[in-house]
Amino acid sequence: MWLSGTSDLIGVLKQRGVKRVALQFPEGLKRKAASCTRTLREAGFEVIISGDPCYGACDLALGALEYADVLVHFGHTPVDDRSQVIFEPYEIGFDCAVLEKALPFLSGKPTGLVTTVQHAHLIPAMEEFLHRKGIDVRVCGGGSGRTPCRGQVLGCSFTAARIEGVDQVLFVGTGHFHPVGIAISTGARVIALDPLTGTAEEVNGDALLRRRFAVMEKAKGATGVGIIVSSKSGQQRMDLARRLVPLHPGAVIVLMQEVSPAELLNLGFACYVNTACPRLAYDDQVRFPVPVLSPQEFEILCGKRSWEEYAIDEIL
Ligand code: SF4
Repeated sequence: MWLSGTSDLIGVLKQRGVKRVALQFPEGLKRKAASCTRTLREAGFEVIISGDPCYGACDLALGALEYADVLVHFGHTPVDDRSQVIFEPYEIGFDCAVLEKALPFLSGKPTGLVTTVQHAHLIPAMEEFLHRKGIDVRVCGGGSGRTPCRGQVLGCSFTAARIEGVDQVLFVGTGHFHPVGIAISTGARVIALDPLTGTAEEVNGDALLRRRFAVMEKAKGATGVGIIVSSKSGQQRMDLARRLVPLHPGAVIVLMQEVSPAELLNLGFACYVNTACPRLAYDDQVRFPVPVLSPQEFEILCGKRSWEEYAIDEIL
């Protein structure tokens, strides 16, 4: 049995004439590496595992391709096209009856439905359940950009939640970041349902915006600003960084693979602007020694954008 139970990875590898395979797992799936390796070895492949941290398809272990014919990346859908990388989904199922818990929160308005990649295969079943309950449910997206599945959102892309004529969105998934990001990005009323615990709640962006305002206040008056550009495969935004540099006389581009508190401390800037994974600034500010702003927050700080035009950072 393979990871998703429906995959034909071995068949695909054989068809491509592959002999050496590199495997990459996100943090939550790394424990699957040993059993996947066994299965592939039994099928005749030589296997290498990437041991570096990985949080998304934006962070492909392309260096492993020096030693392998293909890289198999587990748990995410592609954020860009690379013929030597095979993306292997990891589906997490649940009984769609859990959506009943969200119904008391939904008004009679058209409702957008979004989820994360692990549950994207259940979008049709969730749609059907909500239709049966009389909800005018709308799903968009799919087949484009960083979110190829219908109704799929990422922490750096809420495109599938921006649906014409819809100002109420049901997010089905775990964690707070995605629904908060959707609320700020779309301005819609957002209901978040955790399908694994059955907890439903209305979510808004107020607390995040208050925290970000405090970070921006601390960044005022900074003389040196490091504009962080990631060298990771799907996070590189050099063009954006180059547009930001002229906004501040002390701004300089800093190219980094891993953005860590220790490295930011060593570099010694009073403030940083993050063009790498947007979640770094929003989720991890408490870990960093100095303010780490999003590109939009830096524009506000430099007077290029008004506070009313605040937007959450997305890689589109
Ligand atoms: S950039 Fe961040 S949010 Fe986007 S796919 Fe990568 S890890 Fe996820």
